[in-house]
Amino acid sequence: MCNNMIAWLEKNGVKTKVENDGRVFPVSNSSQTIIDCFLRLCKKYNIEIRTKLGLDSFVFEHNKYTVKANTHTFTSNQIVIATGSNRKLWNILENAGHTIAKPVPSLFTFKIKHALLQELPGLSVSMGKTKIKTRKREETGPILITHKGLSGPGILKISAWEAVYLAEVNYKFTLVVNWINEDYKTLLLHYKNLRENQPKTKFISLNNTYNLPKRLWKKIITLCDLENRNFAEAGNKHLESLAKMLTVCELPVDGKNTNKDEFVTCGGVVLDEVNFKTMESKKLPNLFFAGEVINVDALTGGFNFQNAWTTAFVAAQAICRVGDL
Ligand SMILES: Cc1cc2nc3c(=O)[nH]c(=O)nc-3n(C[C@H](O)[C@H](O)[C@H](O)COP(=O)(O)OP(=O)(O)OC[C@H]3O[C@@H](n4cnc5c(N)ncnc54)[C@H](O)[C@@H]3O)c2cc1C
Repeated sequence: MCNNMIAWLEKNGVKTKVENDGRVFPVSNSSQTIIDCFLRLCKKYNIEIRTKLGLDSFVFEHNKYTVKANTHTFTSNQIVIATGSNRKLWNILENAGHTIAKPVPSLFTFKIKHALLQELPGLSVSMGKTKIKTRKREETGPILITHKGLSGPGILKISAWEAVYLAEVNYKFTLVVNWINEDYKTLLLHYKNLRENQPKTKFISLNNTYNLPKRLWKKIITLCDLENRNFAEAGNKHLESLAKMLTVCELPVDGKNTNKDEFVTCGGVVLDEVNFKTMESKKLPNLFFAGEVINVDALTGGFNFQNAWTTAFVAAQAICRVGDL
């Protein structure tokens, strides 16, 4: 989240903390703190909030919008659509001439059944690298082994960037994990040098420089049939399979899970139909967008809120310039 936003939150009574990976949360760890902050300010500035009024339709006639919500009808010179990932609104906008990028879930964890992960839930590596086998993008970050597969920022990031592709393949794909963020060839050479120089060193006692959790290291060398061997007893095939499992470990993913209760949707009003200087629609005059309704999504930790609040700020500024509010 940008510093101005954090300063704004602090100024308005929300103490924030920054996680190691740069994500920002309220110190309270509760979204209620943010809600309370906004409600306090709405009260202060006499902003009326009406709930339980679902927007059903809007029409633009005679330079005014007529908005129907349940049994109520409102008119306004400008309207802001900030309805998040609401399918109904996307349908209404599509009927009004906008293009909607197909909504698909973003930010999820991977379901994996693999011998390597069994009995290791709760273990994590601090800086892994993830990649979908058939794709180019790589992401780095902590990776957490869960009861159902893999989670953690290194997984959530790749799920977000590849959300559209992963929906296309129905969340069945091969994930390539580099547990130690090291190059395969460099690692293999390192092990061959060790075999040359320290043949008596046992793999189990190898003081690995990559800070892998001990139980994960033990599982890896067991699966590579190296648990009871020293370097002199390891053939090239052994060293290759060890270096492969550490740096290009292929894991079959069969589905997704949510990350706690968090979810974000990617998709929405396509970006080239929005004027980003004002957040006004390029298709419908005096109609503005803010937040997740447009095709922007990000990691949690403040970045989606940053999008929602920044676009709302830009839209509000533009509307004030026009002078209706
Ligand atoms: C559990 C959870 C945790 C999250 N944690 C984080 C986080 O830590 N950091 C982060 O950056 N992001 C997080 N996100 C994502 C973030 O909450 C959203 O990206 C953000 O709230 C989007 O803001 P928005 O205003 O665009 O939409 P929303 O917050 O979804 O608000 C849309 C509003 O429009 C209303 N609405 C919808 N349709 C209609 C209609 N027809 N008529 C009238 N009103 C309507 C809805 O009721 C809702 O109040 C989280 C999401 C979830 C679900």
